[in-house]
Amino acid sequence: MMVCYSSTDYIGHAFGTNAKELQDTYVRLDLELARLFETLDREVGKGQYTVFLTADHGVAPVPNYLTDNKIPAGYIHEKELVEALKKGVQDQYGVANLIRNVSNNEVYLDHKKIAAAKLDSGRVSHFIASFIQSQEGIAAAYPTATLMKMNEDNPLIQRLQRGYHPKRSGDINYVLLPGYMNYRKYGTTHGSAFVYDTHVPLLLFGKGVKKGETFKRTNITDIAPTISALLEISNPTGTIGNPIGEVLERR
Ligand SMILES: [Zn+2]
Repeated sequence: MMVCYSSTDYIGHAFGTNAKELQDTYVRLDLELARLFETLDREVGKGQYTVFLTADHGVAPVPNYLTDNKIPAGYIHEKELVEALKKGVQDQYGVANLIRNVSNNEVYLDHKKIAAAKLDSGRVSHFIASFIQSQEGIAAAYPTATLMKMNEDNPLIQRLQRGYHPKRSGDINYVLLPGYMNYRKYGTTHGSAFVYDTHVPLLLFGKGVKKGETFKRTNITDIAPTISALLEISNPTGTIGNPIGEVLERR
Protein backbone atom coordinates (compact mmCIF):
# COMPACT_ATOMS: atom_id res chain seq x y z
CA MET A 1 0.00 0.00 0.00
CA MET A 2 1.33 3.46 -0.91
CA VAL A 3 0.04 6.58 0.84
CA CYS A 4 1.08 10.03 -0.40
CA TYR A 5 0.92 13.02 1.96
CA SER A 6 1.01 16.10 -0.26
CA SER A 7 0.09 18.91 2.15
CA THR A 8 3.79 19.42 3.03
CA ASP A 9 4.47 20.19 -0.64
CA TYR A 10 1.65 22.75 -1.05
CA ILE A 11 2.36 24.48 2.25
CA GLY A 12 6.12 24.34 1.65
CA HIS A 13 5.68 26.08 -1.72
CA ALA A 14 3.43 28.75 -0.21
CA PHE A 15 5.41 29.61 2.93
CA GLY A 16 8.97 28.25 2.52
CA THR A 17 11.23 25.88 4.41
CA ASN A 18 11.65 27.83 7.66
CA ALA A 19 8.02 28.85 8.11
CA LYS A 20 5.93 28.24 11.24
CA GLU A 21 3.12 27.12 8.92
CA LEU A 22 5.31 24.27 7.64
CA GLN A 23 6.44 23.32 11.14
CA ASP A 24 2.77 23.12 12.12
CA THR A 25 2.08 20.92 9.08
CA TYR A 26 4.78 18.44 10.10
CA VAL A 27 3.36 18.22 13.64
CA ARG A 28 -0.02 17.39 12.08
CA LEU A 29 1.56 14.90 9.65
CA ASP A 30 3.16 13.16 12.62
CA LEU A 31 -0.27 12.79 14.26
CA GLU A 32 -1.70 11.53 10.96
CA LEU A 33 1.05 8.88 10.71
CA ALA A 34 0.31 7.83 14.31
CA ARG A 35 -3.32 7.32 13.28
CA LEU A 36 -2.20 5.14 10.34
CA PHE A 37 0.14 3.01 12.49
CA GLU A 38 -2.49 2.56 15.22
CA THR A 39 -4.87 1.27 12.55
CA LEU A 40 -2.21 -1.07 11.12
CA ASP A 41 -1.39 -2.34 14.65
CA ARG A 42 -5.06 -3.12 15.14
CA GLU A 43 -5.82 -4.54 11.68
CA VAL A 44 -2.53 -6.25 10.76
CA GLY A 45 -0.91 -6.72 14.17
CA LYS A 46 1.93 -4.97 16.03
CA GLY A 47 5.30 -5.83 14.48
CA GLN A 48 3.60 -7.71 11.65
CA TYR A 49 4.07 -5.09 8.91
CA THR A 50 6.99 -3.19 7.35
CA VAL A 51 6.91 0.54 6.60
CA PHE A 52 9.16 2.85 4.62
CA LEU A 53 8.90 6.63 4.52
CA THR A 54 10.59 8.86 1.94
CA ALA A 55 10.00 11.88 -0.31
CA ASP A 56 10.08 12.44 -4.07
CA HIS A 57 12.14 15.64 -3.69
CA GLY A 58 13.58 18.14 -1.23
CA VAL A 59 13.21 21.89 -1.57
CA ALA A 60 15.28 25.06 -1.89
CA PRO A 61 15.46 27.60 0.93
CA VAL A 62 13.55 30.83 0.12
CA PRO A 63 15.96 32.98 -1.97
CA ASN A 64 14.88 36.22 -0.23
CA TYR A 65 15.62 34.58 3.12
CA LEU A 66 19.09 33.57 1.87
CA THR A 67 19.94 37.04 0.56
CA ASP A 68 18.74 38.57 3.88
CA ASN A 69 21.39 36.36 5.48
CA LYS A 70 24.06 37.37 2.93
CA ILE A 71 24.04 33.99 1.15
CA PRO A 72 24.14 34.24 -2.67
CA ALA A 73 20.70 33.48 -4.13
CA GLY A 74 18.16 35.08 -6.41
CA TYR A 75 15.45 34.88 -9.01
CA ILE A 76 15.62 34.23 -12.75
CA HIS A 77 13.14 35.93 -15.05
CA GLU A 78 12.73 33.16 -17.58
CA LYS A 79 10.55 35.30 -19.85
CA GLU A 80 13.27 37.98 -20.12
CA LEU A 81 15.95 35.33 -20.58
CA VAL A 82 14.00 33.76 -23.46
CA GLU A 83 13.35 37.14 -25.13
CA ALA A 84 17.07 38.02 -24.94
CA LEU A 85 18.00 34.58 -26.25
CA LYS A 86 15.60 34.77 -29.21
CA LYS A 87 16.95 38.20 -30.12
CA GLY A 88 20.56 36.99 -29.74
CA VAL A 89 19.93 34.03 -32.04
CA GLN A 90 18.17 36.16 -34.66
CA ASP A 91 21.01 38.75 -34.60
CA GLN A 92 23.58 35.97 -35.01
CA TYR A 93 21.90 34.03 -37.84
CA GLY A 94 19.53 36.55 -39.44
CA VAL A 95 16.63 34.06 -39.21
CA ALA A 96 13.63 34.42 -36.88
CA ASN A 97 12.06 31.72 -34.69
CA LEU A 98 14.84 29.13 -34.71
CA ILE A 99 13.77 28.34 -31.12
CA ARG A 100 10.52 26.43 -30.79
CA ASN A 101 10.22 26.39 -27.03
CA VAL A 102 12.02 26.82 -23.72
CA SER A 103 10.69 24.73 -20.88
CA ASN A 104 12.06 23.18 -17.66
CA ASN A 105 15.53 24.64 -18.34
CA GLU A 106 15.69 23.06 -21.78
CA VAL A 107 15.74 24.79 -25.17
CA TYR A 108 14.00 23.13 -28.12
CA LEU A 109 15.17 24.09 -31.60
CA ASP A 110 13.05 24.21 -34.75
CA HIS A 111 15.05 21.69 -36.76
CA LYS A 112 13.00 22.23 -39.94
CA LYS A 113 13.77 25.97 -39.93
CA ILE A 114 17.43 25.29 -39.16
CA ALA A 115 17.67 22.86 -42.09
CA ALA A 116 15.79 25.27 -44.41
CA ALA A 117 18.25 28.05 -43.49
CA LYS A 118 21.12 25.61 -44.21
CA LEU A 119 22.44 26.01 -40.66
CA ASP A 120 24.15 23.38 -38.54
CA SER A 121 22.05 22.51 -35.47
CA GLY A 122 25.19 21.53 -33.51
CA ARG A 123 26.70 24.98 -34.04
CA VAL A 124 23.42 26.71 -33.22
CA SER A 125 23.21 24.63 -30.00
CA HIS A 126 26.75 25.67 -29.01
CA PHE A 127 25.96 29.33 -29.68
CA ILE A 128 22.81 29.13 -27.56
CA ALA A 129 24.59 27.30 -24.72
CA SER A 130 27.31 29.96 -24.49
CA PHE A 131 24.72 32.74 -24.77
CA ILE A 132 22.69 31.33 -21.86
CA GLN A 133 25.79 30.62 -19.79
CA SER A 134 26.75 34.29 -19.92
CA GLN A 135 23.43 35.38 -18.36
CA GLU A 136 22.99 36.26 -14.69
CA GLY A 137 22.02 33.43 -12.32
CA ILE A 138 23.08 30.68 -14.74
CA ALA A 139 25.66 28.12 -13.58
CA ALA A 140 26.13 26.29 -16.87
CA ALA A 141 24.51 25.44 -20.19
CA TYR A 142 25.25 22.43 -22.39
CA PRO A 143 24.17 21.27 -25.82
CA THR A 144 22.38 17.99 -24.95
CA ALA A 145 24.62 16.03 -27.34
CA THR A 146 27.71 17.32 -25.46
CA LEU A 147 26.12 16.68 -22.06
CA MET A 148 25.39 13.06 -22.90
CA LYS A 149 29.02 12.48 -23.94
CA MET A 150 30.45 13.99 -20.73
CA ASN A 151 32.11 11.31 -18.70
CA GLU A 152 32.74 12.48 -15.19
CA ASP A 153 32.02 11.66 -11.57
CA ASN A 154 30.20 14.93 -10.89
CA PRO A 155 26.80 13.85 -9.48
CA LEU A 156 25.17 17.04 -10.82
CA ILE A 157 26.15 16.08 -14.39
CA GLN A 158 25.05 12.49 -13.79
CA ARG A 159 21.60 13.68 -12.64
CA LEU A 160 21.19 15.80 -15.78
CA GLN A 161 22.18 12.81 -17.89
CA ARG A 162 19.65 10.60 -16.11
CA GLY A 163 16.94 13.11 -16.99
CA TYR A 164 17.58 12.61 -20.70
CA HIS A 165 14.84 11.11 -22.85
CA PRO A 166 15.64 10.62 -26.56
CA LYS A 167 12.16 11.67 -27.70
CA ARG A 168 11.34 14.38 -25.18
CA SER A 169 14.56 16.16 -24.23
CA GLY A 170 15.51 19.56 -25.58
CA ASP A 171 18.61 20.48 -27.60
CA ILE A 172 20.25 22.56 -24.87
CA ASN A 173 20.12 22.08 -21.07
CA TYR A 174 20.89 24.83 -18.61
CA VAL A 175 21.43 24.85 -14.86
CA LEU A 176 20.75 27.75 -12.49
CA LEU A 177 23.20 28.73 -9.77
CA PRO A 178 22.48 27.19 -6.35
CA GLY A 179 19.84 29.20 -4.49
CA TYR A 180 18.42 30.64 -7.75
CA MET A 181 14.98 29.84 -9.10
CA ASN A 182 12.49 30.84 -11.76
CA TYR A 183 9.64 31.56 -9.37
CA ARG A 184 7.45 34.24 -7.79
CA LYS A 185 9.20 36.24 -5.05
CA TYR A 186 7.66 34.48 -2.06
CA GLY A 187 7.58 30.86 -0.96
CA THR A 188 9.87 28.46 -2.72
CA THR A 189 10.14 25.58 -5.18
CA HIS A 190 12.24 22.55 -6.10
CA GLY A 191 13.51 20.73 -9.16
CA SER A 192 17.28 21.32 -9.29
CA ALA A 193 19.99 18.66 -8.98
CA PHE A 194 21.53 20.40 -5.93
CA VAL A 195 21.65 18.65 -2.58
CA TYR A 196 18.87 20.76 -1.03
CA ASP A 197 16.48 19.50 -3.71
CA THR A 198 17.64 15.88 -3.75
CA HIS A 199 18.46 14.98 -0.11
CA VAL A 200 15.35 13.33 1.33
CA PRO A 201 14.41 11.27 4.40
CA LEU A 202 14.59 7.49 4.15
CA LEU A 203 13.19 5.59 7.12
CA LEU A 204 12.23 1.95 7.46
CA PHE A 205 10.73 0.14 10.39
CA GLY A 206 8.70 -2.89 11.33
CA LYS A 207 8.93 -6.55 10.49
CA GLY A 208 12.41 -7.66 9.33
CA VAL A 209 14.01 -4.22 9.88
CA LYS A 210 17.04 -3.89 12.16
CA LYS A 211 17.25 -0.86 14.46
CA GLY A 212 20.07 1.50 13.52
CA GLU A 213 21.20 4.29 11.24
CA THR A 214 23.76 4.83 8.52
CA PHE A 215 25.63 7.84 7.17
CA LYS A 216 26.47 5.91 3.99
CA ARG A 217 24.93 7.40 0.84
CA THR A 218 21.69 5.61 0.06
CA ASN A 219 19.17 6.34 -2.69
CA ILE A 220 15.42 6.03 -2.90
CA THR A 221 16.05 3.55 -5.73
CA ASP A 222 17.45 1.26 -2.97
CA ILE A 223 14.01 0.94 -1.35
CA ALA A 224 12.48 -1.51 -3.85
CA PRO A 225 15.47 -3.94 -3.72
CA THR A 226 15.53 -3.67 0.11
CA ILE A 227 11.83 -4.53 0.34
CA SER A 228 12.35 -7.30 -2.26
CA ALA A 229 15.17 -8.76 -0.11
CA LEU A 230 12.87 -8.64 2.94
CA LEU A 231 10.15 -10.45 1.01
CA GLU A 232 12.70 -12.85 -0.54
CA ILE A 233 11.38 -12.12 -4.03
CA SER A 234 13.22 -11.00 -7.19
CA ASN A 235 13.69 -7.27 -7.82
CA PRO A 236 11.21 -5.34 -10.01
CA THR A 237 12.28 -5.17 -13.68
CA GLY A 238 13.39 -1.54 -13.60
CA THR A 239 15.52 -1.84 -10.43
CA ILE A 240 18.76 0.18 -10.49
CA GLY A 241 19.50 0.34 -6.72
CA ASN A 242 20.86 -2.12 -4.18
CA PRO A 243 19.44 -3.53 -0.94
CA ILE A 244 20.47 -1.47 2.10
CA GLY A 245 22.25 -4.15 4.12
CA GLU A 246 22.18 -2.16 7.39
CA VAL A 247 18.40 -2.40 7.41
CA LEU A 248 18.05 -6.16 7.11
CA GLU A 249 17.91 -8.36 10.19
CA ARG A 250 20.16 -11.40 10.10
CA ARG A 251 18.19 -14.58 9.72
ZN1 LIG B 1 6.19 20.79 -5.22
